[in-house]
Amino acid sequence: GRTVGILGGGQLARMLALAGLPLGVRAVVLEPDAQAPARFCAEHLHAPYTDAAGLDRLAACDAVTLEFENVPVEALAALQGRVPVRPGGHVLHLSKHRAREKAALREAGARTAPFVPLEAPGDLAGALAAVGGEGLLKTSELGYDGKGQARVRSDADLHAAWAELGGVPCILEGLVPFVRELSLAVARSSRGEVAFGGLIENVHRNGVLRASTFVPGRAANEAAARDIARRVAEAWGLEGLLTLEFFELADGTLLVNEVAPRVHNSGHLTQDGGNVSQFEAQLRAVLDLPLVDFAPTLPSGMVNVLGWPDGQEPDWDAVLRAPGARLHLYGKAHRAGRKVGHVNVTAPDAAILAERMAHVEGLIP
Ligand code: ATP
Ligand code: MG
Ligand code: MG
Repeated sequence: GRTVGILGGGQLARMLALAGLPLGVRAVVLEPDAQAPARFCAEHLHAPYTDAAGLDRLAACDAVTLEFENVPVEALAALQGRVPVRPGGHVLHLSKHRAREKAALREAGARTAPFVPLEAPGDLAGALAAVGGEGLLKTSELGYDGKGQARVRSDADLHAAWAELGGVPCILEGLVPFVRELSLAVARSSRGEVAFGGLIENVHRNGVLRASTFVPGRAANEAAARDIARRVAEAWGLEGLLTLEFFELADGTLLVNEVAPRVHNSGHLTQDGGNVSQFEAQLRAVLDLPLVDFAPTLPSGMVNVLGWPDGQEPDWDAVLRAPGARLHLYGKAHRAGRKVGHVNVTAPDAAILAERMAHVEGLIP
């Protein structure tokens, strides 16, 4: 029996812990929130991420992984040299900061949107023109689900948006005329063994992932996506799992939008699509167990369930009756807009998957 330590006890930690159970892997989560979603399926160290006793317990695990990129440097320093932390400090340093991440992606040979780092007011002059006249201003750190972002169409917009975001370090990205958004997870062990998930197609609404789909054999540019993911994993010395988000242009070119050093919301459909899930893949990679590709074998989809305004709760019985649907709830309060669960959908072919997804989307407003 092995034990994995997880920094963070949210839904990703919960699903990592669940994936460990059949393998005899026990999870220990360090998480300050008493109501954290992982608390029922893992040993819950209810303490701040920098708590010395909590970090000692994690250091006694076989390996430590994480469910969010903003791990305090103090926590990493306290674990350093005592237990493998996967992904390691170098990957986290890059992936928690958009400007560093984009520069490192380009160094690894990946393409990205045009961007300009904005650190001081003087950097704003000429930035919008440099990225093509229309763009997205994003805080370099701490943004997720489209928070900490503003669309800018003029220099006046840019100045106002930068002040609005607090004048903190940002990047200005050119607006990408993508035809699709895709994601791909890559797992790599400390021995350098590499495995891939499927190339998943994602649809966002208001900057938040709404739905994902994967149909085996359908993605035309899977080989290109894997090539980019392998380069990034090797250049960054990945141990563990990371997920690349891509913009696909009309000519098929893939730009990397951003990287998550962990399992990803789009990969939740791997729980029910047959094959090893992204969660099991992350555990295998961090514990140095054999890796296998973890693309679903079935046409698979996922619809996110966000917190609902009072009186607008989804009809769960209808969701539970929906053909091919599996409900996953995280045990979180339904604060409006918060990710509280998802519904996975599988089907025998792409056409039936599309019908079933439309049905489930209709049940999840
Ligand atoms: P998360 O971490 O939850 O995926 P995030 O807050 O880090 O989100 P991004 O992934 O950078 O945000 O952006 C959210 C969404 O906004 C993207 O998935 C895409 O739909 C849109 N978007 C972001 N950057 C651009 C861009 N440069 N051009 C066009 N659309 C963009
Ligand atoms: Mg992000
Ligand atoms: Mg994103």
